Amino acid sequence: MHSMFANFTAIRSRREMGVKVTVATLGIVAVTDGVDALVNLYTQPDRIWPSFIQTTLIAAAMSLTFLGLLARSNLRLFELKERFETLAITDIQTGLLNRRGFFASLDRAKASGADMTLGVVDIDHFKRINDTYGHLVGDYVIAEVGRSLRDGMSAPHFVGRVGGEEFALALNGMSSSEALRVGDRLRVKLQNIGGSTLPQGLKVTASIGLARIGQDDVMSSYARADKALYEAKRRGRDLTISAELDLGDNVVALPLPARSI
Ligand code: GH3
Ligand code: MG
Ligand code: MG
Repeated sequence: MHSMFANFTAIRSRREMGVKVTVATLGIVAVTDGVDALVNLYTQPDRIWPSFIQTTLIAAAMSLTFLGLLARSNLRLFELKERFETLAITDIQTGLLNRRGFFASLDRAKASGADMTLGVVDIDHFKRINDTYGHLVGDYVIAEVGRSLRDGMSAPHFVGRVGGEEFALALNGMSSSEALRVGDRLRVKLQNIGGSTLPQGLKVTASIGLARIGQDDVMSSYARADKALYEAKRRGRDLTISAELDLGDNVVALPLPARSI
């Protein structure tokens, strides 16, 4: 009952506002007229019709005015809430999901039973890019890496920016070797970022560590993906490494197949 009422008073669009204010006004007018007619029937039966018209006009005008104003501020609050909710999970620099948004989406996907693989993407020698070309170029590189990753993925897979020059991939329903192939294609695609807009001589590469989440909890999978990433860095960077396909100390790494995704 309470939720039915809350649902009726929620105003999520101008159309909903029009429909609900009209319905509520009609309801209020009908109830007011009913009470008015009932009272008149016992007190002044000859006044029923004139009073009916008067009551209808007053109840309709007041309801439309007050409900309209309330509905308008209700709609505005709803729009603000939506905007803040989106802002709270969005990284402003790249427009991607931020850390909070990424892990919330990942938790949701996992809770719905999806078989997820987590990838951690870290730009190689990013400090050097900042130091050599300045922070603005660094910011531009981060935005372009974000764009390249986003353009290279589509639902049900998704990407977020989880740290300064660190991104995370969520791959849905893939075996470890499929995820390795897809992750590595994304890495190769990063070599084309910026087109001719990057300063001469600036090459951007990234390393990727992958871990299948399966039934594990997300944070321990993150730690495994991070370990695979660390291994990629250790082996010289610009590499994709999977935690599962790690053969003991002999980690499987895919080098440079020049395909686009
Ligand atoms: P590695 O290949 O081992 O990952 O080396 P790295 O230099 O990329 O790693 P490190 O963690 O030493 O440096 C990351 C740098 O990223 C440090 C920090 O100042 C910079 N950074 C983090 N966020 C931003 C940002 O939003 N904009 C810019 N321009 N720099 C950032
Ligand atoms: Mg880093
Ligand atoms: Mg880095």
